[in-house]
Amino acid sequence: LFNKDLGQHILKNPLVAQGIAGLLGSDTVLEVGPGTGNLTVRILAQCKKVVAVEFDPRMAAELQKRVNGTPDQRKLHIMLGDFMKTELPYFDVCISNTPYQISSPLVFKLLEHRPLFRCAVLMFQREFALRLIAKPGDTLYCRLTVNVQLYAKVDHIMKVGKNNFRPPPQVESSVVRLEPKNPPPPVDSKEFDGLLRIAFVRKHKHLVANFKQTTVLHMLKQNYNTYCSAHNIMLEDDVDIKDKVVEILESIGMAEKRAANCDMDDFLKILLTFNNANIHFS
Ligand code: SAM
Repeated sequence: LFNKDLGQHILKNPLVAQGIAGLLGSDTVLEVGPGTGNLTVRILAQCKKVVAVEFDPRMAAELQKRVNGTPDQRKLHIMLGDFMKTELPYFDVCISNTPYQISSPLVFKLLEHRPLFRCAVLMFQREFALRLIAKPGDTLYCRLTVNVQLYAKVDHIMKVGKNNFRPPPQVESSVVRLEPKNPPPPVDSKEFDGLLRIAFVRKHKHLVANFKQTTVLHMLKQNYNTYCSAHNIMLEDDVDIKDKVVEILESIGMAEKRAANCDMDDFLKILLTFNNANIHFS
């Protein structure tokens, strides 16, 4: 009955479903992967409209059948298809017991959506949730953490044990709340991620060591050349990219810091200083 490839683990404990909500009567809610609708019917009871994106036509049909002939019928709009390929409508709040396979792309798709939503309440695999909320120095602090926390405030709402699902998944889950920063910080997400990719290759190494790798220097040199020619900046031909990179990191006291312990301001400062020297990461 359940399709494991689609991460179909149905929530059976309504208490958990209640914890996921917290809605205004005027809200339009986006639900990703409603399944048979255990969560959906509870959301419908508290808001103006639910747009539910479901990949599995059998699940969608079951959900439709469940609301047909009830007052909720006209409040529910089911979109059949892959969430990642769906053009999203307007929504105020996103609620989802997500298919865990698409956790990371789902978060970024939400954060890129405009206009910005008010908040998202999402169920994830415990470890993924802990990555999202990690702080500098935590074991699970990683590139994902910093990319997400640049654009959103993330809070852990509650732990959810496997036995709240049917069939029980292999891992524990957690509900997190994501609140986009509005307005979003004026930082190019590709540039920022490009920097983090370098910094987090070995997150316990000195940043300068990660930056001095041949492939990294080669890429930065190319980006530097491309940027300068596109912006009519005279190339200094005797530029030694390695010296330049080391000098930049030292100038802001970052050469011997480690990504594992850098906070958001550290990463933003590194990005800004490189960009001011015409060195880009994407
Ligand atoms: N929300 C329901 C609940 O809590 O009982 C079901 C949750 S189940 C973990 C995930 C649901 O997402 C399944 O119904 C599955 O078919 C659907 N799904 C999986 N991948 C999807 C995708 N890429 N786009 C939309 N729905 C997807």
